[in-house]
Amino acid sequence: MSALLSENDLNDFISPGLACIKPTETIKEETSSSNELEVGKESNEVEKVSISLQDCLACSGCITSSEEILLGQQSYTVFLEAWRKLPEDSVLAVSIAPQSRLSLAKYYKAELDDFDRGFVNFMHKYFGARYVVGTQIGRNITIKQTNEELVRRKQFEASAKPALCAVCPGFVLYAEKSKPELVPFLLDVKSPQQITGSLLKQKNKNIYHLAVMPCFDKKLEASRKDGENEVDCVITPREFVTMLGELQVDINDYADVSQSRSLLSACSPEGWDPEIHWASNEGSSSGGFALQYVLHQQKMHPGSEVHIVEGKNSDITEYRLLNSVDGEILASSSQVYGFRNIQNMVRKLSNSGTKARNVKVLRKRSANTTSRGGTSASAADPVKTDFVEVMACPGGCINGGGLLNGEQNSSRRRALAKTLDNEYRDRLPSVYNESNVDYDMPYKYSFSPVEKSSDVVTVGNTW
Ligand code: SF4
Ligand code: SF4
Repeated sequence: MSALLSENDLNDFISPGLACIKPTETIKEETSSSNELEVGKESNEVEKVSISLQDCLACSGCITSSEEILLGQQSYTVFLEAWRKLPEDSVLAVSIAPQSRLSLAKYYKAELDDFDRGFVNFMHKYFGARYVVGTQIGRNITIKQTNEELVRRKQFEASAKPALCAVCPGFVLYAEKSKPELVPFLLDVKSPQQITGSLLKQKNKNIYHLAVMPCFDKKLEASRKDGENEVDCVITPREFVTMLGELQVDINDYADVSQSRSLLSACSPEGWDPEIHWASNEGSSSGGFALQYVLHQQKMHPGSEVHIVEGKNSDITEYRLLNSVDGEILASSSQVYGFRNIQNMVRKLSNSGTKARNVKVLRKRSANTTSRGGTSASAADPVKTDFVEVMACPGGCINGGGLLNGEQNSSRRRALAKTLDNEYRDRLPSVYNESNVDYDMPYKYSFSPVEKSSDVVTVGNTW
């Protein structure tokens, strides 16, 4: 359900596709209490196939990507129903990802600040939301815990390398269910969506948390057993717009520009600074985890330099931290986006079987790098870096399948993603400062490879 698949592509197929790699369980409905069969009469009843949202692999080629699966458990209709039945003592909290904000602001032809205020105002006045927040506080914790874990792993070479970022559920589900050999590589730090949910629920256990996220895969993430109760419902910007249409609401009616940012403060939990949770950080528009790791290492190596090495396409980038005296690579990370690049990376990882980097090789490679921002004679090689920010969507989260890109043509769609990417950098202030990030517990996934059973009908997925 990455950018390759969107809600518009969904259909009403209930049966798993020829390609579904999820073992399915059939439920026979009893048609008569006696269970007797009538000779010469065949039942017209089709056996129901039961696949829950948690089972879904998010592989974009499966026809079981039906509305039954995707939207049955997490959709705006489910949210509206839950909201109408919300008990008196419950509190509604809404979080929204920066990519969703930019996409919605563009859709409504509004400046980002104006959209943010209109969104908060609408959620507060129409739905009575007590909290309406951005996801940067959650993301700051993801970055900090990721950096700490990577530094720890670098000291203990026995850890599988490279560590693979686990904030993209499209990739995580693929790894867990289709490539179990990748599971030891996954870094178990939770995503900003889940940490934001956990922080909100710590404020009040009777919170109902709605998250507005850039893709459908985030619904699957919210359904994970190791993240239960952190997020109650995920909707995408596309669903948000549909919901407003159904409610006959024009969000511009809520965009009162006379309202200052105090509205954002009023809808922030105690201790949450809106200047932080509505902001962003340096790095990619998918979270910047790869760059942040290298910047963190740079602080530990005064005088070192960060070099950016372009890959063979725009969806591969490597960051190298070089000793400015002898060019030794001190730390490195990379971004790998899109199914094709991920497949190549997985192939290399499976073939290499290497666990630790060869320092001599690194030194040799470092001699070919050029100064920051330039391309290097030695191409980016993500599998040899310490950490890979893996994103299932080509272009990353700024091209998520739930955003309002409205373009079926892939090159125009990428152009729009590029525009949003530029706006991400121009409009969102970078606030990450690890010394200000406070957390009192580790936020960890618990990954487990899922063995394919022999009764699986393998498929036509696009991986
Ligand atoms: S293979 Fe796929 S995306 Fe594909 S359903 Fe079966 S479960 Fe979900
Ligand atoms: S890259 Fe981002 S938008 Fe795309 S599937 Fe992964 S988390 Fe969702």
